[in-house]
Amino acid sequence: MEFILLQSFTNYIEAHILMGKLEDEGIVCWLKDENTVTINPIWTGAVGGIKLMVTKDQLERALQLMQQYAQERKNAVACPNCGSHEIEFVSSPRKPLNWVSALTGFFFGDYAVATDKTWHCFTCNTEFDQPVEMVPD
Ligand SMILES: [Zn+2]
Repeated sequence: MEFILLQSFTNYIEAHILMGKLEDEGIVCWLKDENTVTINPIWTGAVGGIKLMVTKDQLERALQLMQQYAQERKNAVACPNCGSHEIEFVSSPRKPLNWVSALTGFFFGDYAVATDKTWHCFTCNTEFDQPVEMVPD
């Protein structure tokens, strides 16, 4: 059977969750990562870690399912200001609050400070810390 890269992950848990969902739908898939590490450790970072592989003839179905999951996840959160689902967790252009928090992040490896990510609404252009979470019907 011929396998094709569906998506690569840097996060093991995300990769496993998606693989489990696809398997529930009868998609034959597996995670490819150790081989790359063994063959050439230098590549590990560059190629993006864990790869979710699917068979060639199920690729289209797998992509449809991934779109569906992305849509479901999008519908599960909304903007607290206008209620739009057109929101995304993005890297904020804002700098750390001040040089003290910047240094603290640097020395203590506080990546929450260092990366400074925030939610952004594309409908009303508001930024917020937490989206409104929808309870599924
Ligand atoms: Zn909004």
